[in-house]
Amino acid sequence: MLMDYDVAVIGAGIVGASIAARLSTAGLAVALIDKGAAGAGGASALSGGLVRLYDPDPLLMDLAAFSIDLMDDGIFANTYARALRRSGAIYRAAPEQMDNLCRAIEQHASPRYPMRLIASRELDGVQFPHCPDQARVNLYEPHACIGNVRLATQLLADVVRRNGLLLEHCEVRAIDCKSTHEVQIRLDESTLRCRAVVVAAGGWSRQWVPGLQLETRSIPLARVLTDTECRMPLIDAVSQSYLIPLTRQVVQTGCGFRDTQQSPDDLPPTDLRNRQNAVERVRQLTGCMHPEVLDVLPGFDSYSPDGRPLLGFVGEDSPVFLASGMSGLGFKFAPGIAQIAFEQMQSRLLGQEASAGWSALCSRRAMQHADVVAGVQP
Ligand SMILES: Cc1cc2nc3c(=O)[nH]c(=O)nc-3n(C[C@H](O)[C@H](O)[C@H](O)COP(=O)(O)OP(=O)(O)OC[C@H]3O[C@@H](n4cnc5c(N)ncnc54)[C@H](O)[C@@H]3O)c2cc1C
Repeated sequence: MLMDYDVAVIGAGIVGASIAARLSTAGLAVALIDKGAAGAGGASALSGGLVRLYDPDPLLMDLAAFSIDLMDDGIFANTYARALRRSGAIYRAAPEQMDNLCRAIEQHASPRYPMRLIASRELDGVQFPHCPDQARVNLYEPHACIGNVRLATQLLADVVRRNGLLLEHCEVRAIDCKSTHEVQIRLDESTLRCRAVVVAAGGWSRQWVPGLQLETRSIPLARVLTDTECRMPLIDAVSQSYLIPLTRQVVQTGCGFRDTQQSPDDLPPTDLRNRQNAVERVRQLTGCMHPEVLDVLPGFDSYSPDGRPLLGFVGEDSPVFLASGMSGLGFKFAPGIAQIAFEQMQSRLLGQEASAGWSALCSRRAMQHADVVAGVQP
């Protein structure tokens, strides 16, 4: 027996849950499917959850600004925004980056989202009791937030549960594209017949889109006890390190040794090098002499070749819409991604021409060949 839905979304990480919630509150019949519990199995489970605007890539900065604007609107105001805590954030860059930072402030700073440069000596008391003395320019975003990514994902999945179908602990086994407007999604015991399918399966998305250039990279993270109080998130672009305060003296930091594989299932476990690297990073960033690593966790995400999300139908005649390749930034982009996906999906279902906006994110740029996906069974 077939169950009919307008759209099936594969993957209830923050991206799939955001898209499914946005579509279902617009009146579409949506099924959101995950092989685990919503937000618990993929990149979203171990995300740092930082929401801030600046990025050296102007397109990603525009996407962050678009997304941040949506966080207080519609479906995101009652879900996503509830999982955010305003903390402020400091971004430290090499002095040569000064012009880029000034340009970003000129373009994006507003009373709603202030951004300003701050002298290193001013960080004493704002960031640490004593900021390590390094040659840096500092961008301060006072409205930056730390998010509870799992909570945001669960709240959005709950919206889908109320408006449509949420299937957790249910693995998609095959996608069978019958025509431009019909796709069948095979589960263990049943089949969904839909007008379109959104593949938001993070690092697992590759298996559903043949020829897709997408890889999984580990993003190991450590939770570290320090004797220095860290008051707000800090990103140091020069050493490519970050700190997120979890409690007064426990911080989350990244680890430098990363692996790349085709699927999250192929990543090796974290090792001792990451533990030592976390200690060095915390020493460098805080000046704390004896940081103690509490644990090292095996985070990961899906990466596109150019570090920008992959978003859109994978072919003119394909009912498969890809939303993946978040490249370590998918939490802050999720509301924007969901809105863009909604607009493109609505145009397709209504048989209208999609607007050209955000075409630089088009998923087809990462396809080795532009074949329509006919039927995929990993
Ligand atoms: C350590 C770390 C720190 C980060 N820090 C930040 C940050 O500060 N700010 C920020 O914006 N982003 C950050 N990110 C990135 C962000 O967390 C990710 O980009 C985002 O969570 C990706 O979400 P997703 O929904 O695309 O993928 P995922 O969360 O991986 O979701 C994919 C889902 O698909 C499901 N799935 C796969 N195959 C199937 C199948 N066959 N059937 C059913 N379900 C399936 C999986 O179970 C999974 O739940 C960080 C990530 C990590 C790991």
